[in-house]
Amino acid sequence: MSDKYKYTYRGYLCDHHSPDPPVVNFDKLNAEECERFLKEANIDHVMVYTKDHWGNSYYDTKVGKKHPALGERDWIAEIKPVLEKLNIEFTAYYCFEYDNYITKAHPEWSCMTKDGQKLVCGMPDNSSNAKWGMPCMSSDYRKYALEQLKEVVRNYHPDSLFIDIFGKSLCYCDTCKKRYRERFGMEMPETEEDMIRYNKDLATFLDDDSEELLDEVKAELKAIDPSLAITVNFSSHYRKSTRDKLDYMYTEPWAGNWLSGAYTRDTSGGRHPQLGPGNVSQIFNYQPDSIYELAAAEIAAQDCHVFMYSESMRRDGSLEFEEAQKIGKTYREIEKIEPYLGNRKVHADVCILQSDLSDTLKVTKSIPIRSVSRTKISGKHREALLGAMKLCDYSKISWCLVPELDLDLNKMKEFKAVIIPSVAYISEDMAKDLERYVYEGGVVLISGESGLSDADGKEREEFLLKDLMGLSLERKNDDYIQNPWSAYIQPKTSPVWKHSSETTPPINGTVLNCQLTDPSNMVLYGTFINPAVGLSDTTWVNWGSPLPGEDTGYPAITEHVVGDGKVISFCFDFFALINENFIWTKKVLTDLLLYLFKPSVFLATEYVNMAEYALYEKTAENEGQQEWIFHELSACARLTGGDTPLIPGGELQIDGADISLEKVFQVFPEKKEIAFTVDEENKYHIPLNPLRIHRVYQLIGK
Ligand SMILES: [Zn+2]
Repeated sequence: MSDKYKYTYRGYLCDHHSPDPPVVNFDKLNAEECERFLKEANIDHVMVYTKDHWGNSYYDTKVGKKHPALGERDWIAEIKPVLEKLNIEFTAYYCFEYDNYITKAHPEWSCMTKDGQKLVCGMPDNSSNAKWGMPCMSSDYRKYALEQLKEVVRNYHPDSLFIDIFGKSLCYCDTCKKRYRERFGMEMPETEEDMIRYNKDLATFLDDDSEELLDEVKAELKAIDPSLAITVNFSSHYRKSTRDKLDYMYTEPWAGNWLSGAYTRDTSGGRHPQLGPGNVSQIFNYQPDSIYELAAAEIAAQDCHVFMYSESMRRDGSLEFEEAQKIGKTYREIEKIEPYLGNRKVHADVCILQSDLSDTLKVTKSIPIRSVSRTKISGKHREALLGAMKLCDYSKISWCLVPELDLDLNKMKEFKAVIIPSVAYISEDMAKDLERYVYEGGVVLISGESGLSDADGKEREEFLLKDLMGLSLERKNDDYIQNPWSAYIQPKTSPVWKHSSETTPPINGTVLNCQLTDPSNMVLYGTFINPAVGLSDTTWVNWGSPLPGEDTGYPAITEHVVGDGKVISFCFDFFALINENFIWTKKVLTDLLLYLFKPSVFLATEYVNMAEYALYEKTAENEGQQEWIFHELSACARLTGGDTPLIPGGELQIDGADISLEKVFQVFPEKKEIAFTVDEENKYHIPLNPLRIHRVYQLIGK
């Protein structure tokens, strides 16, 4: 039995995909050196290759191909006692969709492109140095891989299994084509046009295949060892039904460690997410220690288990100890905060709705061929979600994401505001819950083309949330979409613009021309101004995007009072703007949130672009005793390439109506009590210590 994955926070993979000799000879591969490396790096969780991208295995396999340089040696048999001795979690790493050996030994097992070529890594745009062959999971390779995994589990009893390059790539082999034909009654789409047209079928076909594959892996392996914990790479990007079948989650960051950490935490359903950045370490061209330390601190502060991987093995099998030292320095700091990690729930005033479905509905490009590329696919919703995370983080108000299938009325009521960032499809059930939530005093912020699609991606002519928004859609206006700034906003007097520059801020993309349906209960925050001209070969104004022209009078941002609550509507893709550096959105969202509700938690700091925080409520061990863990970080090292000046910690403000405090301690780097004050409005003012990378505090409730 092993549930080590729940408690290990310091993971590592020596990323050594190794071709045959003479390139890699393993002359100096040595378990004792490896033991010294693991100790030096203070690692408590290791992935060990059982089969790499070359198709080479590192143990005595009767099914697969052992790396020829190992000769009589069984590397896993050599290293496993070391892991046991050091009480390190042993995760078997196994690669599915890259196997350069097997696609040569069995060319008939290869994935095929639509024009009859063998699919390799980096296709179709030659985007990779490595061009490993890609076997098809619907060929007999599936049996081969499963047999090998069974062999690994039976003979080496790993604590956990990590499957890399998991999933199902788009393959045009005869088997895949036949299966598609049988299921959908037509040939697999090949032209760009058909692939877009039948995108949903293609995506369903591949996603279902992935999930069935996972079902099979689980059934076969858990029959041998029911306690084996199983995950796949990029876990948090699979659809919820697939995610829910994993024992724990592992994801590589897609939006930096800080925001990806939150995304991974909030899509994991509490299943012990690990976040493993591949860009912290660059062996031979090392980054400063502070980059390692901040990355690990950010991951841990977002309640993910820290993982790092790097190509630290030389071709003779010896190891780069510079890397071990850097990781060790970082992981010794992480070890100190481990008692405060886990068994806790993020505290948030703002909920950002996360949708798996929205970005699959409206596609403009054919589906990516490789399953790994597909997991990283992004659309309007993902972009807007990313922007919402950035803006909320900037506001210093607490926030988290909630997946669409988890967000019912009860869940909504945990938050003071719900953000709906360009969520094309909103279910009828959710619409009803949102209505109730607002009526009873909740606040909803809704942007862009939210609720303008049905479940099949067909465009609706009217907002699903028309009554809540108090807006009716007249038309989607792309008249100036070619301009970098497709419209400007004429602000109206409102607290929303309190700290904004006095100007007419620009937007880009589609403008939604709307009519007010309930004017007596509405406040107009701003109207759209058209650009003076649309850009063309013969029309322009100056170097930049054409200047503001006429005020159209169409609402740009509105507030609708409904029952005891409010709905803020942005008639454009507000949240995505920050990704393209529309700076004005930062202050507007902060002012807006502070106007809409009294935050339970607020970090007062002048370092709004640098300071980061997360607050968690600990799961109570003793009834009646409440405890919170607060992480404060300075992102300066990341923003500057390694500098860590001491910056003021600012002041943590907590509303006594939400959280009642007895004592506050700083617990990292060293433990000391922090004196705080309470003002006449029952707000706690907790002075935070200056910091270079991060500090952790423990708040004890009354
Ligand atoms: Zn195939």
